[in-house]
Amino acid sequence: MPQTGLMMNRPLLISGILEHGAAQHGDQEIVSRETHGPLHRYTYADAAHRARQLANALAQRGLQAGSAVGSIAWNNHRHLEAYFAVSGSGMVMHTCNPRLHPQQLIYVINHAEDEVVLFDASFAPLVKGIAAHCPKVRAWVCLADATNTPTIDGVSVLNYEDLIAQQSPAFVWPDLDEATGAALCYTSGTTGNPKGVLYSHRAIVLDATTACMPDVLGLSKQETILPVVPMFHVNAWCIPYAALLAGAKLVLPGPKLDGPNLFELMDTEQVTISAGVPTIWIGLIQHVEQNNLRFAHMKRTCVGGSAMPMALIAKFMDNYGVEVRHGWGMTETTAVATMSSLSRADRQKPAAEQHAIVAKQGKAVSGIEIKVVDENGLTLPRDGSSQGELMVRGQWIVERYFKAEETALVNGWFPTGDIATIDAHGTMQIRDRTKDVIKTGGEWISSIDLENAAMGHPAVAMAAVIGVKHPKWDERPLLFIVCKPGESVEKQAILDFLATQVAKWWVPDDVVFLASLPVGGTGKVQKNDLRKDYGGVFS
Ligand code: AMP
Repeated sequence: MPQTGLMMNRPLLISGILEHGAAQHGDQEIVSRETHGPLHRYTYADAAHRARQLANALAQRGLQAGSAVGSIAWNNHRHLEAYFAVSGSGMVMHTCNPRLHPQQLIYVINHAEDEVVLFDASFAPLVKGIAAHCPKVRAWVCLADATNTPTIDGVSVLNYEDLIAQQSPAFVWPDLDEATGAALCYTSGTTGNPKGVLYSHRAIVLDATTACMPDVLGLSKQETILPVVPMFHVNAWCIPYAALLAGAKLVLPGPKLDGPNLFELMDTEQVTISAGVPTIWIGLIQHVEQNNLRFAHMKRTCVGGSAMPMALIAKFMDNYGVEVRHGWGMTETTAVATMSSLSRADRQKPAAEQHAIVAKQGKAVSGIEIKVVDENGLTLPRDGSSQGELMVRGQWIVERYFKAEETALVNGWFPTGDIATIDAHGTMQIRDRTKDVIKTGGEWISSIDLENAAMGHPAVAMAAVIGVKHPKWDERPLLFIVCKPGESVEKQAILDFLATQVAKWWVPDDVVFLASLPVGGTGKVQKNDLRKDYGGVFS
């Protein structure tokens, strides 16, 4: 009979991360760009001090373990304090995506049963529109001081600084069960209502610890990390927790995520690691190229959320010496589930081969297992070419959605809705979303591969591909192109270019040139919007 290990059984808790950061890296810096005013600077010890004050303030207002606190906010220092105060107290930190349609925002706030909602001053008009429809919310708290807190007609608004001002900086964090719900995030929900994922303390601590590993984000106290990925999107990939665990300097970019502002922050704060979706890096690289700039400190950029185009990987790595790491995850996976990074042997390979490795979504990090299955649920071979639905299981993967009666799992695995291949070395490549893949004449075309190929054309800034109904072939690809500023290209020239890159039957039937692509709150191209406007029928 197995013996029980004779070790302490201390729970994995978010309050433990905060107190570790304050005690061991107390003088490490947090720099935050705010909605108003200059950059805000303080330390981990200061943040912990104020998080404990917020915990006292919430308790005084009658919130209890299990209560939900919503946030509609960018990455800034008060939002960070809330991350720790709310979860640390045993409450649920519900981060809302401010770009949700107001009706969906109302839905998620009511579904989560938020009792307090914290919001950035710039979202006051949004709050004005939704407050009357959120009956459970007892307090709307602006993440600002009194001077920068707007009045909102018909809504009683508190300001964060007054809320915490008189509170004690001492707070005894409850000794929670590590399975307690800590944070809640809803899926982007392109169809139907968004679904909530309630992360446990255990899931977050384990994922954040893994994120620090050298071949994942590689955090340490020598690094400065700038999470561009918003704190309302998949826990900002757990970076706010991981930075405190590792003692890395943390730079929070606030609302300004355009190329010039990000570059300035990276430069002045000597950022060494950054993380965000590909659309962010497209804006950044354009600014850098147009102004002949160099990254003086950046060692690597970690990308995920959608596929990182190969042409962009090549630019970062070859032109600017910035290593690209490409990860995959989803709201249902707490943060990172797979990551591609170069091994020592990979680094000896020609540049093009290195780019191709990084363009894949990589290997499951420890704690996570992946497989691909066919439509009957049978596991497909790891041969790099058999493609099927990606299934995932592990220590920080959802089991069921918030308030759902039934499990989300199939035989113990979570079906991701992504189509992928896995090779003999365990390297996974996302080929498409099941709903985005283009089914033509009984074969599949990967919209990601086509977009990747189009992005390789020198005049193309962004590309998206959707399947459009076709009377003969079922579906055919339609390509959308946004040209780089000052550049243009003829339709036929793009099609001719693609014909050199992909199989002939993959070449899109038409090209639409747009000034911009519809991009959602998490920085992903909204293909549903494109389908709505252009998804008619090819003749
Ligand atoms: P979300 O829950 O909004 O973060 O969306 C998760 C989905 O984003 C995944 O199921 C994938 O379809 C997509 N995704 C995430 N990371 C990548 C990546 N590196 N490459 C391609 N698609 C990705």
